[in-house]
Amino acid sequence: MAGQDLLCFSHLRWDFVFQRPQHLLVRAARSIRVWYIEDAEWHHGIRPHAVTRTTPEGVVVVVPQLPHGVDPEGYLAGMRMILAELMIGNRIERPILWYYTPHALDWTEHLVGNPTVYDCMDELSAFRYADPGLPARERALMARAAVVFTGGHSLYEAKRTLHRNVHAMPSGVDTSHFAPARTILPEPADHAAIPHPRVGFYGVIDERLDTTLLAEAAALRPEVHFILVGPVAKIDPADLPQAPNLHWLGSRAYAELPATCAHWDAAMMPFALNQATRYISPTKTPEYLAAGLAVVSTPIADVVATYGGLQAVHIAADAQAFAAGIDAALAQRPLPETWRPEADRAIAAMGWDSIWSRMHAQVHATRRAPGILRRAEYDHVVVGAGFAGSVLAERLAAGSGRRVLLVDRRPHIGGNAHDAPDAAGILIHPYGPHIFHTNSEAVMDYLSRFTAWRPYEHRVLARVPTFAGCQLLPIPINRTTVNRFFGVDLAEAEVAAFLGARAVSRVPVRTSADVVLGAVGRELYEAFFQGYTRKQWGLDPSELDKSVTARVPTRTNDDDRYFTDRFQAMPRDGYTAMFRRMLHHPNIEVALETEWQDVGSRSPHMVFTGPVDEYFGHRHGRLPYRSLRFEHETLEVAQALPVGVVNEPDPAVPYTRTTEFKHLTGQVHAQTSLCREYPTAEGDPYYPVPRPENADLYRRYQALADATDDVTFVGRLATYKYYNMDQVVAQALSTWQKLMNRTQATMAAE
Ligand code: FAD
Ligand code: UDP
Repeated sequence: MAGQDLLCFSHLRWDFVFQRPQHLLVRAARSIRVWYIEDAEWHHGIRPHAVTRTTPEGVVVVVPQLPHGVDPEGYLAGMRMILAELMIGNRIERPILWYYTPHALDWTEHLVGNPTVYDCMDELSAFRYADPGLPARERALMARAAVVFTGGHSLYEAKRTLHRNVHAMPSGVDTSHFAPARTILPEPADHAAIPHPRVGFYGVIDERLDTTLLAEAAALRPEVHFILVGPVAKIDPADLPQAPNLHWLGSRAYAELPATCAHWDAAMMPFALNQATRYISPTKTPEYLAAGLAVVSTPIADVVATYGGLQAVHIAADAQAFAAGIDAALAQRPLPETWRPEADRAIAAMGWDSIWSRMHAQVHATRRAPGILRRAEYDHVVVGAGFAGSVLAERLAAGSGRRVLLVDRRPHIGGNAHDAPDAAGILIHPYGPHIFHTNSEAVMDYLSRFTAWRPYEHRVLARVPTFAGCQLLPIPINRTTVNRFFGVDLAEAEVAAFLGARAVSRVPVRTSADVVLGAVGRELYEAFFQGYTRKQWGLDPSELDKSVTARVPTRTNDDDRYFTDRFQAMPRDGYTAMFRRMLHHPNIEVALETEWQDVGSRSPHMVFTGPVDEYFGHRHGRLPYRSLRFEHETLEVAQALPVGVVNEPDPAVPYTRTTEFKHLTGQVHAQTSLCREYPTAEGDPYYPVPRPENADLYRRYQALADATDDVTFVGRLATYKYYNMDQVVAQALSTWQKLMNRTQATMAAE
């Protein structure tokens, strides 16, 4: 869907509570531009305009601002004008229109959706103060929509006869977000004075809550404390029942919910059984279960149908039964092994990723019916949305006017350079730290079309044993490293001779051991390189090509930067945002979670950026790639490491390095996220392994690649080269140039 925009119209404020629209749209924003358009805010004496901000996940939230007191016609005119300015100013040309509120149709009717989607998550017309005209607006929206989703099964039953293409997409759960609630997390300050046992609810507090039942249950169980977290809407806070064991704590961010649930003993959903709740499918049911809590709920149809059979879920229709349900849930608390595994199995397949990918497939199918992807519509199929594939897709589309289908088997763009905020909202690199550096002005100029930059000079310390115990010393080895490692005080001019006296000369220099031993001698080699390399590659430096350790220089001065390139900077809004801009072109279509084989066999020209041996079915045997397992962790401190990366050459430590992302990104946040890298032989292919026998094997694949006319192989995996990002960009740019030259030559010959 990339090269496209998604305009979402919603009656909910983005910051209200994190629910279905947010879960889905942050996933959409991994590959396309997403605009979340809220209803207007009113101010005295202003001209209609939009206030926009970009969330950490890359969704642009648009809040229309209208002058106080305009009549309904003025409202529609103002909203249309704001929308037009937004679309023209941002070159939004053929957006997907994604509605949560049929009311938005009033001012968007002139747009043609590509396609139009109605994600119906509630029976809005049954809500308090609902506009009586809503059912008619919904019918009008249904008439325009190519596909309709419903947020639950009851809603599906209610809507299925109203449209020919309705799909039930019950809301899911971000299990990994809530699972930490089962561990020890700091207690929210507003909980400290509330005694246990505690039964909690979070969500919007409006007419859907049965406050009478709640007050009665609280009176029946004075020793139990009822905690309610969430914004109060459409009801007067003064009308909420009050009691010593009823605690109304107000709203809090999605990121804080796990720490909140962690301090409850059970969860509750005291929903009223009325028109407004007839069709609801509360997202919080699986969230509570993921947080490890048993749940007491009134008999909401979807809750009964989906979870009613679980031991962890107690259905209770009145206050007496609700109180008894709470007793049962609290009694279960000490015995999680008897009910949690069953609940975990029930929610295992309910991830938002898979819900989004099913919805995405439906939207795609609507646009491309009957087949999803038809290669004949494209001039090029590009496999892999990393640097190699994205640069080529951009050049072919924007530089050569070609139509490009870009596929990637992963659920996001950016390849290994992809970044995304973690559960705490900290921008991390899920595939390990990526620091951009280059000497190439051409590469820098090219990428600068898609991103602004934040200057960043990378520094690394290695934890090594020295004469004075374990120390964190600069790597690459420099004057400071030498002085502190050996306990000497050499001037800059003396360092070369000092190291020269220790160096073990190897001629010819062939392996990674030869390079380092010849530069710094055995002590520094063993402390800084041998253990690290054995872990990283599963090979001794003497078994690896010299090019591997030659990446790390030796210095005699005090320069402690890891790189000395002319340009050292990080994309200001992150790599994914940069890729998103790169791929935002009407001629580029992106299909994620798609294998290149899924695209069919008859081919236009293909660019392949995956592993070259995989393309040829491993016909000459497997090319070795080194892999990594990443362990991510968030700490409750603002800073954990003195520099961006700390290396661990010690063979006894199972990981090679720890990265603290905030150094790289400059993000300001009260917490910090770290990543440790554990090298492995199995797993996703990350590193080609530079050694002579692998180079020989690669040459056999290269011969096959050269003989495959309609496929061009580019990138780190497809050309089996230990390339940095800038080298891959340069390779992709020159490949595009060659492809264009070839086309011109063919045309001239014809
Ligand atoms: P990739 O980013 O690997 O992209 C290939 C894409 O193809 C993947 O998304 C994959 O899912 C997809 N794909 C593969 N096969 C198929 C298939 N059959 N069907 C569909 N899709 C397929 N470089 C730097 O310059 N600085 C750094 O600091 C840096 N740090 C790094 C740290 C780590 C841990 C790693 C592993 C690499 C680092 N790099 C760094 C290197 C950088 O990641 C690469 O140079 C760059 O990302 C390579 O881009 P690419 O497009 O060739 O490959
Ligand atoms: N290396 C090492 N100790 C270190 C840093 C690097 O032994 O403290 C070796 C190791 O073999 C590593 C290689 O030098 O794989 C290249 O390091 P670089 O940081 O360039 O690797 P990258 O992580 O960028 O691929």
